[in-house]
Amino acid sequence: MSKPIKPATLLAHDQNNNDVYHGAVVPPIFQNSLFTFESWEAIDAAFENRAESYIYSRGKNPTVQLVEEKLAQLACGEKAQLFPSGMAAITAACLHVLTPNSHVIAIKNMYGPANNLLVNYLAKKMNIETTFVSGNSLDEINSAIKKNTKLIYLESPSSAVFSLQDITAITTLAKQNGIKTIIDNTWATPIFQKPLTMGVDLEVHSCSKYLGGHSDIIGGVVIGNERDIQSIFHNEYELLGSKTAPMEGWLLLRSLRTLTVRLKQHQESALKVANYLENHEKIAHVNYPGLESHSQHDLAKKQMQGFTGLLSFQLNITQIDKIKTFVNTLNLFQIGVSWGGHESLIYVPAISYLKELSQEQFTNMGISLGDVRISVGLENVDDLIEDLNTALLTI
Ligand SMILES: *Cc1c(COP(=O)(O)O)cnc(C)c1O
Repeated sequence: MSKPIKPATLLAHDQNNNDVYHGAVVPPIFQNSLFTFESWEAIDAAFENRAESYIYSRGKNPTVQLVEEKLAQLACGEKAQLFPSGMAAITAACLHVLTPNSHVIAIKNMYGPANNLLVNYLAKKMNIETTFVSGNSLDEINSAIKKNTKLIYLESPSSAVFSLQDITAITTLAKQNGIKTIIDNTWATPIFQKPLTMGVDLEVHSCSKYLGGHSDIIGGVVIGNERDIQSIFHNEYELLGSKTAPMEGWLLLRSLRTLTVRLKQHQESALKVANYLENHEKIAHVNYPGLESHSQHDLAKKQMQGFTGLLSFQLNITQIDKIKTFVNTLNLFQIGVSWGGHESLIYVPAISYLKELSQEQFTNMGISLGDVRISVGLENVDDLIEDLNTALLTI
C-alpha cells in the first residue's frame, strides 16, 4: 500500500485528471445540468450504477465529486457527500440515522439551529425525543440511554461554549449499545481533529466556516463509511433535492488549497489574542481550548492536533450599555454572525440565541448575557490586539 498523502499535498495538488482537463492547472467547473450518452447501452449502464455515474447534476457532478474525494481522504473517511449548507448536512445525517419515535442524546450546548431541528421540527414530525446532557460525564450519558436510543449527537469543541466531549469513550459506549454517533466537527476542521478514527459514525461540517474560509460560500458535508454515505446520497441528498452547486464546489476546492496555511495562522494569532485577553484586567474569563487555563485542555491535547480561531470571553462588566460601547468601538473586528473566514468578527451570542431559544434553554447551554465571541481572522495580529485594547479603554 502506498503511504497516506499528507494534508497539505492532498489539498494543494489537483493534477490527477490533468490529461482530461487539457492541462488546465485548475480543474474546470462542470456547470451543466445533465450529461449525454453515445448510445442506449451507455445510458443503460450508467443507470445500473447511479451512485458512481454522471447522469444529472442533482446527483453526481464531477466538480462536486472532486471536493468530496478530498474531504473524505482528509477526514480518513471512505466517502463524503457535499450539501448546500451545514444545516442541510446535519439534517440529512439525522434523518439517515433516525426512525419515527427514536430517542436522541445530544449535548446541551450544540449549535442552536441543530438543537431547534431536534426539539421543534423532528419532535413534531417524527415524534423524536431528545435528552440533553453536559457531555463531560460518561455516566450521565450512560444513564440517559433508553431502549429506543438511536443517536448520540456530539459537537466537540462546541462552537457556543467551547466545551469538549471525550470522543473515544463516548463512541465505545455507543457501540456497546448499538447506537450511532454524529459529531459536528466544524470548529476543529478535519485538519485538527479526526473523529472517524475515534469511532464516530458520521462527521458533519459547515463548509461555510474554515473549509470555505473566504466568507463567500455556504456549504456542508457529511463524511463516513461507504454504506452510510451511499444511502444518504440516494435518499436525503437526491430525493430531498439537496443539490450542491458546481460553482460552490469549485470555490470550496479553491479554499481547501490554502486550508493548512490558513489554519496555522488562525491558530498562532488566536493564541496570542487569547493570552492578551486572559491577562487584561477588564476580562473575567477567556474560553479557548488552546489555553492551559481551559478546564478540558488536557483532553483537548489528547484528541486534537491543533486549535482554530473562534473563542469567547466574558467582560468584567455586566452593564449591557458598556458591552455595546465596547463592540461598537472596535474597528477591525466587524460585527457579524458566522466565523472561520479571513476577516476578524465579533458577536454577542445573546442577540440571536435569545430569539431562537428560551431564556432557560440559553442559560442551560452555559452561555451568559455578557459572553462576547470573536473570530480571529488573518489580519496582522498586533493590529487586532491594538483594536481590542483601544475598545477596552472606552469601558
Ligand atoms: C455554522 C454552523 C453550522 C451550520 O452551517 P451552515 O453552513 O450555516 O448551514 C453547523 N454547526 C456549526 C458548529 C456551525 O458553526
